[in-house]
Amino acid sequence: MKRADYGMYQTDLEFALEQVQEIAKTVVAGNAAQVDQMAQWPEEAIRALQKAGLAGLTVPEEFGGLGHGSFAVAQACEILGQECASTAMCFGMHLVGSAVLSAKATPDQQIRYLRPIVEGRHLTTLSLSEAGTGSQFYIPRTRLDSVSVDLYRANGAKTFVTNGGYADSYVVSTVASDPNGPLGQFSCVVIPATAEGLRWGQPWSGLGMRGNSSMSLDLDDVVVPRIDLLGEEGDQIWYVFQVVCPIFLMAMTGTYLGIAGAALEEARNHLLKREYSETGGGLSELPIAQHRLGCLWGKLERTRRLCYHAASSFDAGDPDALPAVFTAKAEVADCAIDIVNEVMTLCGGIAYRGGSKLHRLLRDARAAHVMAPTTDVLRLWTGRALLGKPILGQ
Ligand SMILES: Cc1cc2nc3c(=O)[nH]c(=O)nc-3n(C[C@H](O)[C@H](O)[C@H](O)COP(=O)(O)OP(=O)(O)OC[C@H]3O[C@@H](n4cnc5c(N)ncnc54)[C@H](O)[C@@H]3O)c2cc1C
Repeated sequence: MKRADYGMYQTDLEFALEQVQEIAKTVVAGNAAQVDQMAQWPEEAIRALQKAGLAGLTVPEEFGGLGHGSFAVAQACEILGQECASTAMCFGMHLVGSAVLSAKATPDQQIRYLRPIVEGRHLTTLSLSEAGTGSQFYIPRTRLDSVSVDLYRANGAKTFVTNGGYADSYVVSTVASDPNGPLGQFSCVVIPATAEGLRWGQPWSGLGMRGNSSMSLDLDDVVVPRIDLLGEEGDQIWYVFQVVCPIFLMAMTGTYLGIAGAALEEARNHLLKREYSETGGGLSELPIAQHRLGCLWGKLERTRRLCYHAASSFDAGDPDALPAVFTAKAEVADCAIDIVNEVMTLCGGIAYRGGSKLHRLLRDARAAHVMAPTTDVLRLWTGRALLGKPILGQ
């Protein structure tokens, strides 16, 4: 089953996506089972994506990148997610981190971070979540104290840092510059992996997304030069809604579309293959199986269209795009989990047997509801946007 052409391709994006497709087929697919079984960070795939010049997908062209937005991120992650959701998530988080770094990059940050990213020599990632605030990822408690005109000191504890221990830098959220300021008014800094005082927790061993290396990270008196502050102190609410949400949500949206598409493909292959030697005929001849497959295709296709419509509206600067972007990730979470679940039934006992690909898809899909912004939170945000109420209000 081919992905639909939404008429949005530009020549360079088409070329970039062909490269992603090639790497997905030649590298990602073959490693997916091992990445899952061994909870192995997808090193070979990430290096191949970097080597192909794709690491700068979200870095603006003026800084040497490919200059794409959320639509391209969703497409790239869908292609990768169809083969290995962990790889899609790891690369997606790099693309989000790169977009945050790019949004207000100073000339110095362009040289030290964006240039190596574009040249495939630097992997970054986003570190927002904390145990103490959970789903409310926009209220960090990690402190950023000023120690001199040139330096801050960061102290705190982050959780679930995708690419943890493998990235070259971490985009870290810290407490509001003004504790009495509005919700979401926090600051972001970029911290190189080599900084003193970064202490990693246990290796990641999740139910799914097992290649993610989503580790916890303690920041113990980490010295942060002021030149590594992103934007202005406390202006992260702007980043949350203008960069993090669209790019991050579309990275996840693409990944879970990939999972759902892979499950549908498993169903189709199974129906075509399953023959009954004693009673004769095949599963694909049963109207109930045909009907179920048709329903699943419809569910995936309408979700996919919503997702790509939301992404292209945001990229085109539509001021009303945000509710669609919020809803896209919530819908795709429901869609991916439902589809994998249904395909498990459609594929019968064979799917339930140990080692089936559907096991991995089922476990990977389950991350969709709990990765922030969670499905619950996104539904709330959409409702608030429609009611004209503050998105981050109580
Ligand atoms: C595989 C994986 C990778 C991840 N990678 C990253 C990463 O790279 N960077 C990063 O920063 N984080 C990452 N996360 C963290 C993820 O974003 C958190 O799981 C998320 O913030 C949820 O936090 P929590 O587990 O504390 O949930 P809780 O806050 O305990 O929430 C539990 C449930 O309650 C609901 N809930 C809680 N509060 C509210 C509320 N106010 N309104 C409505 N519903 C609510 C939630 O929707 C959720 O379903 C990752 C997580 C996973 C599983």
